Amino acid sequence: MPTGATPGFATLAIRTGHHRTAEGEHSEPIFTTSSFVFANAAEAAARFGGEEAGNIYSRFTNPTVRAFEERLAALEGGERCVATASGMAAILATCLGLLRAGDHLVSSRAIFGSTTVLFNKYLARFGVETSYVDLADLDAWAAAIRPNTRLLFLETPSNPLTEMADIRALADLAHGRGCLLAVDNCFCTPALQRPLTLGADLVIHSATKYLDGQGRCLGGAVVGDAQRVGEEVFGVIRTAGPSMSPFNAWVFLKGLETLELRMLAHARAAQALAEWLVEQPAVTRVHYPGLASHPQHALVGAQQRTGGGIVAFEVRGGRAAAWRLIDATRLLSITANLGDTKTTITHPASTTHGRLSPQERADAGIGEGLIRVAVGLEDLGDIQADLALGLEGG
Ligand SMILES: *Cc1c(COP(=O)(O)O)cnc(C)c1O
Repeated sequence: MPTGATPGFATLAIRTGHHRTAEGEHSEPIFTTSSFVFANAAEAAARFGGEEAGNIYSRFTNPTVRAFEERLAALEGGERCVATASGMAAILATCLGLLRAGDHLVSSRAIFGSTTVLFNKYLARFGVETSYVDLADLDAWAAAIRPNTRLLFLETPSNPLTEMADIRALADLAHGRGCLLAVDNCFCTPALQRPLTLGADLVIHSATKYLDGQGRCLGGAVVGDAQRVGEEVFGVIRTAGPSMSPFNAWVFLKGLETLELRMLAHARAAQALAEWLVEQPAVTRVHYPGLASHPQHALVGAQQRTGGGIVAFEVRGGRAAAWRLIDATRLLSITANLGDTKTTITHPASTTHGRLSPQERADAGIGEGLIRVAVGLEDLGDIQADLALGLEGG
């Protein structure tokens, strides 16, 4: 990066992290090598001993992976980023790196399904207990913190109802009670929301979603300070091995270059789609942060640049009507994935939230008539026309 005035977000997204080799390549190279060679035995010893920085083995570091880490760290405003094989590996490495037996974790209830399983089934087995609270209820967060609480964990906006947490208020709460705040920033990405600048200690990503943006690769990342991320979380990755592959890192590097453009386009289409859905007689409710009717709408603009790319809505007639609408689409992809140029449609109650009991689903606000759309980059008119196929006669 040239020195001088601080570059803007798009410049950082395009330029950070590429240390051009002697070949003079313009695009970032992919270093497909598992290990690295040393000039002599003394250099090998110095690298292994940690006295000299440099590559040893791609489970530890790889130049393409490092380029991705430097770029994402710059975009999130963090000191260090550690890339991982998947989003779940990023969450696991954060927990393994920062928690120990006897610690307590407070998490928002509406989090990614596998994250709940990781906390309840696996962390619990190693003596880390998790309590769940409503994302937007600050008093509930405060009441759930115990003397042994070490970490607060959340996703904002939530999936699929797009509820939002006040990150700054939760960071203040966490720090006042001796805890860390980790934010899974998968839905917004740093193009729309930068939790570290609001006081969060750690940002977690599933790069599989918007950072890739075209549904090609699995990956994840943790961003934060040099000690916790650069030492503790990195130590888990280099030892336990869920490292990112150089090829995937290269795909994500290319994804980051267009991240801001894509996120603003996803959000623009989602806003228009949400406003259109409100007008449909068959639709009883629309959940989207960019609508004035959203309970935390005031956070849009302040904390989160736009409403984001995910819209959820409820149709009259419960599961039968929701499934009829989903099955009537011709263009949209019926899949639970998100963050793709292709628009996806899903019925949370029978897929992502299907393992919950009916009571748990009702408590979480996941009704039988609820549909989630992750708005892609096709022409908005075509997305609307596809949804209208199943909305007619509602
Ligand atoms: C997909 C997702 C994850 C898990 O990421 P993988 O890359 O699938 O392991 C974590 N959090 C959120 C919010 C997600 O959407």
